[in-house]
Amino acid sequence: MKRSYITRKTALRRSTERRLRRSVMRYNAPRVGTRRCLKARLDSLTAQIVKMRDGHACVQCGDTFLIDCGHVYSRRLIATRWALDNTFAQCRRHNTLHISQPAIYLCWYAERFGSEALMALHERAYSGKTYSDEELKQMVSDYEQRLEGLRVERSCVAA
Ligand SMILES: [Zn+2]
Repeated sequence: MKRSYITRKTALRRSTERRLRRSVMRYNAPRVGTRRCLKARLDSLTAQIVKMRDGHACVQCGDTFLIDCGHVYSRRLIATRWALDNTFAQCRRHNTLHISQPAIYLCWYAERFGSEALMALHERAYSGKTYSDEELKQMVSDYEQRLEGLRVERSCVAA
């Protein structure tokens, strides 16, 4: 059997390209107007509002490099996924740390807002509340207005 000679470098490049192609094919962007699209829009709006509200700095250490929107209670819990008292600007380090050591962020929250507020948030997070499409649409419209308000506020401060 005759085999063409492939260098390690070529093989690596080809396998990387294959992997990239596959990951691009696997990503199916939410279709406009679907429930998934509304959720994605809310995720984006929440992150923008939170980062602007918190001055694009980590609430725990003040770092301004690579700022994420960090959920105190996981974004998997729909009830508080877009709650602005469950999301704060976090540096990538603190956001990643939260996965393995959630107590640190929870203690920060309790120190800042009180343990009663933390318990109230906890109950809301695990309440099992879901949102209808209409509620999601309403929330998108509210958040768009809120973000616009923050932008105007910022530009007034800057001027
Ligand atoms: Zn931080």
